[in-house]
Amino acid sequence: MLNRSWRPVHVTTVRRAICMVFRDAARVVCPERLSTFTFSEWLGQPIVDRHLAIRSPSVQLAAPEVVLLVQYDRVPCHQAPFTRRNLFLRDDFTCQYCGRRCNTDHLSVDHVLPRSRGGSTSWENCVLACVGCNARKADRTLKEAGLHLLRPPTRPRWTPYLNLRPSQRMESWSRFAPEHKRRSAGSS
Ligand SMILES: [Zn+2]
Repeated sequence: MLNRSWRPVHVTTVRRAICMVFRDAARVVCPERLSTFTFSEWLGQPIVDRHLAIRSPSVQLAAPEVVLLVQYDRVPCHQAPFTRRNLFLRDDFTCQYCGRRCNTDHLSVDHVLPRSRGGSTSWENCVLACVGCNARKADRTLKEAGLHLLRPPTRPRWTPYLNLRPSQRMESWSRFAPEHKRRSAGSS
């Protein structure tokens, strides 16, 4: 969902988006042409291959991927909560020492400055590490272990789809939120 100024503010279900368009609280956005449609205008639009479609005996309708809220003009100001799931998403299921992408069984949360040395459990001190790198680092600092981080760990910027896996994000959203990434399903 985009606010009135076309900023992404929220992710919702197709059902709720259609209800809002039907009630005239939102317009469907065509992500390619950036044109907007009321419910009755959208009903007349052809359904192209990539669209998910909703079909009933009398009506067929492409599932909207982006809707524009007619009234809402705020920008939510949230902080990204520090959770295990969000950390996996931030680090993209990738060991921050060797760069290997792994499934969750082979990754653990590593404290860059070990907890035994006063390291905090925070965005700035936690990274994903694969089993091998975690064993190699053990209870040592980066310098002691001779390891380097791929990038310094920071708190990610909040986005409406922060807690969605890349495979759950629509390709068309990148037009409105350039920092978003989508990867093929199953890669994470
Ligand atoms: Zn590793």
